[in-house]
Amino acid sequence: MDTFKCNYHMHSHYSNGTLSPAQLVRKFIEEEYDVLSLTDHDSIDGLKEFMAACEATKIKGVPGVELTTTHEFMGKVYDIHILGYNFDPNSQLIAEACQRSKDDTLPCLKAEEAIKMVGESGGQCFLAHPVKIPGLGERGTEEFYKEFEALLKDLKKKGLKGLECINPMHTEDEEYRFIQYAGKYHLHISSGTDHHGE
Ligand SMILES: [Zn+2]
Ligand SMILES: [Zn+2]
Repeated sequence: MDTFKCNYHMHSHYSNGTLSPAQLVRKFIEEEYDVLSLTDHDSIDGLKEFMAACEATKIKGVPGVELTTTHEFMGKVYDIHILGYNFDPNSQLIAEACQRSKDDTLPCLKAEEAIKMVGESGGQCFLAHPVKIPGLGERGTEEFYKEFEALLKDLKKKGLKGLECINPMHTEDEEYRFIQYAGKYHLHISSGTDHHGE
């Protein structure tokens, strides 16, 4: 079986990263990655440069974005980051989703709207770094996992396709648990460095 070294989570200077999309591609080539996705916060402005830089190499580039959303569930409002992949970067809906998620004067982008907009643009959504979701129980406790599982189940019903299990923020134990939940709910597993710069 071929294995690929993948990084599905990174930020360029089009959001809060320090490197340009082309510099990111160069950096991860040196680290022998095969597949990369640029996932700037609420922006797809770097994707053209990113995809062109990937095409000039043997790296497979995947269009991506990290959308800031809210999700109402069981009487609570959770702030969650939704990673969208593989959509048409020229989709008007994606541009609208970015606008909604970054502009405080517009109504908040709901997670289920983000999932729908990315889906209608031909892409799939993953839930980013679960340990960073405010309002879940204390990290690592059974209370945390219980709440997390209920939230994940609900998002899956709304069309979520995957879970970011591997992220530098997660401990090995947490990664193991998240991979188990992904399996239980038939979700894809992704891995990303959440790179913001040096
Ligand atoms: Zn995030
Ligand atoms: Zn991020």
